[in-house]
Amino acid sequence: MAIVELPENVGVTKLDEVVSWCRKNSLWPMPYATACCGIELMATGASKHDIARFGAEVFRFSPRQCDLMIVAGRVVMKMMPVLQRIWQQMHEPKWCISMGACASTGGLFDTYSVVQGIDRFIPVDVYVPGCPPRPEQLIQSIVDLQEKIQQEGKIWGREFDAPSRQQPKRALQE
Ligand code: SF4
Repeated sequence: MAIVELPENVGVTKLDEVVSWCRKNSLWPMPYATACCGIELMATGASKHDIARFGAEVFRFSPRQCDLMIVAGRVVMKMMPVLQRIWQQMHEPKWCISMGACASTGGLFDTYSVVQGIDRFIPVDVYVPGCPPRPEQLIQSIVDLQEKIQQEGKIWGREFDAPSRQQPKRALQE
């Protein structure tokens, strides 16, 4: 078989790789900040840390324009239907970062009124530990998520159709 040498300015790759590369470098976050972690989320977007360096600075408050949910702070039961609705309104493929102990586990609020981990209701891709996590940690979680998107991404986003990512709406009380 003849081996064809390509010119220096020509590269060969898979379409999946290109699409994933575009997706990972143009994440549009939907901030869902309910408590003190939200302040660190704001600091992450401010000039000192500058999340724009990672292509994820376009915070939008319309779920239909977002593909990255960042839950920062505790979520009480009353707010869970709101969070679920926003998540369902976001277009696919979409991802979720659970920021801080409260969002991931309920934190120190071990009480009936606080959700003991948002992953009981929506799928979570990356958990950020801490109370609160520093902006550097959130940035690292975005970098980790970008790596995941690059590795798992397919052009049609079908990997996100997995049943684990399509959890049915769950009753708040069981
Ligand atoms: S994890 Fe700590 S800083 Fe974050 S919302 Fe809970 S109590 Fe506040």
